[in-house]
Amino acid sequence: MRLIFLGAPGAGKGTQAVYLCEKYAIPQISTGDMLRKAVKEGTELGRQAKAIMESGGLVSDDIIIGLMRERLAQPDCGRGYILDGFPRTLAQAAGLDAMLGKDGIQRVLLFDVPETVILTRLTSRRTCSQCGKIFNMISNPPPADLVCPDCGGRFIQRDDDSEATVLNRLRVYEEKTAPLKGYYEKQNKLAILRGDAPLDRIHREMDDLVAPLVQ
Ligand code: AMP
Repeated sequence: MRLIFLGAPGAGKGTQAVYLCEKYAIPQISTGDMLRKAVKEGTELGRQAKAIMESGGLVSDDIIIGLMRERLAQPDCGRGYILDGFPRTLAQAAGLDAMLGKDGIQRVLLFDVPETVILTRLTSRRTCSQCGKIFNMISNPPPADLVCPDCGGRFIQRDDDSEATVLNRLRVYEEKTAPLKGYYEKQNKLAILRGDAPLDRIHREMDDLVAPLVQ
């Protein structure tokens, strides 16, 4: 199962990906998580990406495509994967198509959420600084001591979840990433889901969409 989850920052891609990844035992591949790890570890990639991420801009296509080429060659990708936050530009989508050849992406799920909902969601999002688990101060608050129940890490607000950066990320999404909708529509791979629907409905819709891909 080779899927792309598309949608604005805060549309719920990461949260929804966890559901299918656990169900089908495939990895969730998030370029955002990979970059945050590199920043935390202070690698060369992390040093290059840090300021760009803090401003809400995009890391260069060449760097990201190189990162994904390495990641998709890992053995755990053999049974499939969900790409979360990649591709984010037409150049990345073309790079991915060139990389995968005939074993290309089967389905692209676009999570559509109104911008006002996204703004509230992201500015109230809290993320575990160690494992990346996500809570939300309004809809699903973290434990009162802000300690992650899974790994003992601390819940924080990501630097790029501040209101000014979120607005920039949304602008960048409209300009650079939204055109991917047309790109995958032309390939007959696009399915649009309402990302602010109740969770059980989103799960049902995802199940219906991916069931034909599993023998
Ligand atoms: P995310 O966690 O997916 O919202 O990503 C956080 C930040 O990492 C983004 O705002 C970008 O600065 C950077 N980033 C993540 N994925 C990509 C990508 N595919 N291309 C360029 N930059 C990315």
